[in-house]
Amino acid sequence: MSERPFKMLDIEVKRDIYNNRFYVLYQPKIHLSTGQVVGLEALIRKRDEDGKEIFPDQFIPIYEKNKTIHIIDFYMIKMGAAQLKRWKEKGEKMIPIAINICADTLLRNDFIQYIEETLQKEGLMQYMELEITERSIPLERIKVISNLVDQLRKKGMRVAIDDFGTGKSNLILFAQLNINTLKLDESIVRSIHIDKRVEIIVKGIIDICKEADICIVIEGIENKEQLEKLKDLGGEIVQGYYFSKPVDISMIREVYRKD
Ligand code: C2E
Ligand code: MG
Ligand code: MG
Repeated sequence: MSERPFKMLDIEVKRDIYNNRFYVLYQPKIHLSTGQVVGLEALIRKRDEDGKEIFPDQFIPIYEKNKTIHIIDFYMIKMGAAQLKRWKEKGEKMIPIAINICADTLLRNDFIQYIEETLQKEGLMQYMELEITERSIPLERIKVISNLVDQLRKKGMRVAIDDFGTGKSNLILFAQLNINTLKLDESIVRSIHIDKRVEIIVKGIIDICKEADICIVIEGIENKEQLEKLKDLGGEIVQGYYFSKPVDISMIREVYRKD
């Protein structure tokens, strides 16, 4: 696959989009003290030729490697914007949507313009958060990234660092990027209810975030014990199978939008 010229790979991804091979599921983020859904994370899925679900870990790393990931990221921003627009037009309650992008997409020359055309023109900027994976951020370009984050924030958009704890967890990310949200990866949280050291580390990160006015989202909550521990440590927003797996948007409306 990597032997083929980039242009050809671009066409393949666009063709898969055109043929409806991709679809979006949403996973709720829950505010612990109110039990309310405070946001949704959009997660991409692909269908194979027989219609079977393919998970992102089987194709996102390939697109990252062959430099076609921006096509997927732009597509997901467009899908998220379309959903927000539907709610807005129907006068329904707006639930903020988070979209995963890799830093390479953010660094593209056409990124800000795409955001302006897809979201700003429609008055949707404040309802979308971009989740940038920690490990995709090249530290040598941190100044440029910081500048881009500031530009997006000025337009009202929210920016998060995703999967914190799986990369180098460099504190420069806190110091130099004016982010709204930090998402703590599920691999850290997994043993929080049984491992005192993990508990201490997570507590420290929660405290830093509170002090720095950064919203912290804890991912991968799967059981009551983890949840209770996080409550004790001051965690406020959580996401995980304990509440809901990623589901079709129709399920979100039925189950979570009764208020
Ligand atoms: P992520 O952004 O950190 O998304 C959270 C992942 O954790 C999702 O996996 C979600 O289904 C899974 N998850 C949620 N709750 C739990 C839990 O309680 N336990 C466990 N073990 N896992 C949980 P998913 O959907 O397979 O996505 C995997 C990764 O693929 C995402 O991690 C994200 O980095 C990437 N990805 C997904 N959609 C997109 C996209 O549209 N664009 C880009 N660039 N990356 C995407
Ligand atoms: Mg994410
Ligand atoms: Mg994550």
